[in-house]
Amino acid sequence: MMRIGIDIDDTITDTYPVYLSLISVYYGLDYNKLLKNKPSYKELHKTLPDYDKFIKDCFHLMAKMAPLKKNVVEILNKLKEKGCEIVIITARNQEEYTTPYKISYDYLTKNNVPFDKMIIGAKDKGLQCVSEGIDVFIDDNIGNCRAVRDKGIKTIRFDSGFKERDNSLINVKSWNEVYEVLFGE
Ligand SMILES: [Mg+2]
Repeated sequence: MMRIGIDIDDTITDTYPVYLSLISVYYGLDYNKLLKNKPSYKELHKTLPDYDKFIKDCFHLMAKMAPLKKNVVEILNKLKEKGCEIVIITARNQEEYTTPYKISYDYLTKNNVPFDKMIIGAKDKGLQCVSEGIDVFIDDNIGNCRAVRDKGIKTIRFDSGFKERDNSLINVKSWNEVYEVLFGE
């Protein structure tokens, strides 16, 4: 039995385009310019004023608005049929979302995303994966992927089109590719 740890934002959901559209409305910035420059969450956090207020005002909306990635439900169901356990491991926390567990749980169940367990506020995903007995981990964030990979756990980086790359990781661009990596011939 394989126990798979999976991130939410930009791995299960396409959060980033929604994030940029909220940024553009909130700060009066041009959406298409933002999309072209692909600033990271970190970069915008550092440069935009009153960012903490933006988080409070908008992150709960973002969590509800972000659409699912293509084929994610279909592939996760296939993994369940293969006997895999799915553990959602997200850094979403109380400072950003007030009710991170509920908002995530409600979204995932409403959208028929199968999972066995959910961990929120995961700061060190390497340690979290070890204590959860995770066999395979999937996340878009390079830092998280390296931290888990360095614990000797098979790690797949979901490439959501950000500028940062690491070719030493297994990089995939779709959920069909995730399935190929895990069960392809
Ligand atoms: Mg993520």
